[in-house]
Amino acid sequence: MMYAKSHLPTPFGDFILYCFVNRGEHLVLVKPYKGVPLVRIHSKCTTGDALFSLRCDCRAQLKKALELIGREGGVFIYLDQEGRGIGLKDKIRAYALQDEGYDTVEANLKLGFKADERDYSACVEIFRALNIKQMRLLTNNPAKVDYLRSKGFKVEAVPLRVELTPQNREYIKAKREKLKHNL
Ligand SMILES: [Zn+2]
Repeated sequence: MMYAKSHLPTPFGDFILYCFVNRGEHLVLVKPYKGVPLVRIHSKCTTGDALFSLRCDCRAQLKKALELIGREGGVFIYLDQEGRGIGLKDKIRAYALQDEGYDTVEANLKLGFKADERDYSACVEIFRALNIKQMRLLTNNPAKVDYLRSKGFKVEAVPLRVELTPQNREYIKAKREKLKHNL
């Protein structure tokens, strides 16, 4: 897989920065680690990550994961797939449906998508490129853990908890009840 490599100073520490190209441009931050790395796979959420949206908990999760990995070392993958894989425009259309009373899962289904269209296959290649076979994965999503295990990785799930706000309460409820996230 093609990649570029440099370094990136951040408020959470100095990281090695990669950009892997494979159906998108995926950014990877690596902080030197010993033993089994702490890993986070974060799917891009432009409205949350860059524009401070309170409709979801993405930005809080991003910050928490970078803090943890910056502190103890590990690997942070910023996966180039927006809105559970449906893209920005359709994510905004799903928001409009949510304003009419649909939850996040119902809105995606109404637009003709699966509840979750995310694809983690690029991560498999990124882990192979970084020679990672075993990880402690920061996640509340059992499907992510099952997928990586099915690809031969040894994965221990580490919960990533962020605070509920009045705005993201319904969103997190739908993730817990319909997408089986451990929240
Ligand atoms: Zn988000």
